[in-house]
Amino acid sequence: MSDMTLTLSVPALRELVGDLSGSIVVPGDDDWNDARRAWNLAVDQQPAAVALPETADDVAAIVRAAADLGLRVAAQTTGHNAGPLSNAPLDDTILLRTSAMRGVTVDAENRCARVEAGAVWAEVVEPAARVGLAALAGSAADVGVAGYVLGGGLSWLARAKGLAANHVLAFEVVTADGERRTVDAEHDAELFWALRGGGGNFAVVTAIHLRLFPITSVQAGALLWPAERAEAVLSAWRQWTRTVPDELTSVGRILHLPPMPELPPHLAGRSLVAIEAVSLLDAELTAALLAPLRALAPEIDTFHETPMTDLHLLHMDPPGPVPGMGDGMLLETVDADALAAMVEATGAGSGTALLSMELRHLGGALSPDRAPADGGAVAAFDAEFAAFAVGIAPHPQAAAAVHASLARVMTALAPWRAAQSYINFVESSRAADEMWDDGLDRLRAVKSAYDPLRVIRSNHPVD
Ligand SMILES: Cc1cc2nc3c(=O)[nH]c(=O)nc-3n(C[C@H](O)[C@H](O)[C@H](O)COP(=O)(O)OP(=O)(O)OC[C@H]3O[C@@H](n4cnc5c(N)ncnc54)[C@H](O)[C@@H]3O)c2cc1C
Repeated sequence: MSDMTLTLSVPALRELVGDLSGSIVVPGDDDWNDARRAWNLAVDQQPAAVALPETADDVAAIVRAAADLGLRVAAQTTGHNAGPLSNAPLDDTILLRTSAMRGVTVDAENRCARVEAGAVWAEVVEPAARVGLAALAGSAADVGVAGYVLGGGLSWLARAKGLAANHVLAFEVVTADGERRTVDAEHDAELFWALRGGGGNFAVVTAIHLRLFPITSVQAGALLWPAERAEAVLSAWRQWTRTVPDELTSVGRILHLPPMPELPPHLAGRSLVAIEAVSLLDAELTAALLAPLRALAPEIDTFHETPMTDLHLLHMDPPGPVPGMGDGMLLETVDADALAAMVEATGAGSGTALLSMELRHLGGALSPDRAPADGGAVAAFDAEFAAFAVGIAPHPQAAAAVHASLARVMTALAPWRAAQSYINFVESSRAADEMWDDGLDRLRAVKSAYDPLRVIRSNHPVD
């Protein structure tokens, strides 16, 4: 850390950044704890300062000032994936939070949206739906569009449409030299490639131009059984995933729900196995496809025609910040032994401290042979399933238990692990060559070309 960092004060930093419309918060300020708080409340971020820009020019001024001070800049939208960023000290880093930059403009005619870097998915899904369009949003309404898209973006429509990053038309960014640029297939094409899957390593994104789709509703819902039936249900689901068309994207999961009053009484405090699915087919075709799963007599069946604005309810993600600990990996395949290992580690009677252990069905438009030729650094997954496990860790004892349970299931599934990881589902620090399989040298070359002094810092560094 430089001497200037030690004496960092609001006036000194302000002088360097000039007239910001946003604000800078430093340790000791009344709003310090609010400014540095991540969506994931289990993460204690202690940066040198927090910058809250309101415009792209603010972002440029902050990046230039950080470089002048010998500091680094870490962009953050919400802090859903803040965990790995804080695994190394942040005392040489300005945390640049984009939460005040939330403008969203939908262009109905051209089926696209310009989304500022602080927006969360609900803020895109709703205006898009008003003009009959859908975005490739993730399962939770309050995940940041920027972090999600930079990592790839696995939506409920993923098997039909591919990764959200494949549908980025352009990024507006500030590069490490403090320059504002619009990056697309024709301008800074290598940077455009790296930004689509390489995460927040290469530039601070200030806005994203996204393609939207003419979809107003889907058939969506969950089938739930007591967790004691997990192995039988998940085995049937695994077989079934091999038969379904790309219009159907599904998740198989084991849930241990806390006895929370916010949950419906038939779910609170229960351990369940669930199949959640979204279908772009009509009700009749979807019902025909679901028949083999319904033959297993689920206790609860919530399938119905669902407007795009309600889809964020399906996965039962927390509606706001929580202290979570999660981790994931891609799985080359899942066979009967893999399911048995998963159920042993996380099923009924396992003693797991996890809230949820899920497998997302990949394939379809996510397959390598369907990756668009002009796709980004992560344009497909060479894996049949994505695994993600999470627990709630409000205090150190719970954190230790969740940590042990995560390690147990990740170790149990390791024999089926794919070479590539999906950075959005990785909430621990991993070596770059465990995160990106092919393409790592090319990502590092882009990093060196655009950020030779390593001013920009990502939660998942490429080097
Ligand atoms: C409850 C929950 C549900 C989820 N559901 C899904 C899902 O359905 N599908 C899926 O694919 N993922 C999902 N995720 C994972 C999610 O996509 C990642 O956690 C993602 O990183 C979150 O983006 P964020 O911007 O909200 O998080 P942040 O922690 O703010 O950002 C993550 C990283 O992205 C980079 N970044 C963010 N903003 C910028 C910017 N403006 N410029 C440059 N870099 C930036 C930075 O490197 C940052 O550290 C889920 C996560 C949670 C906790």
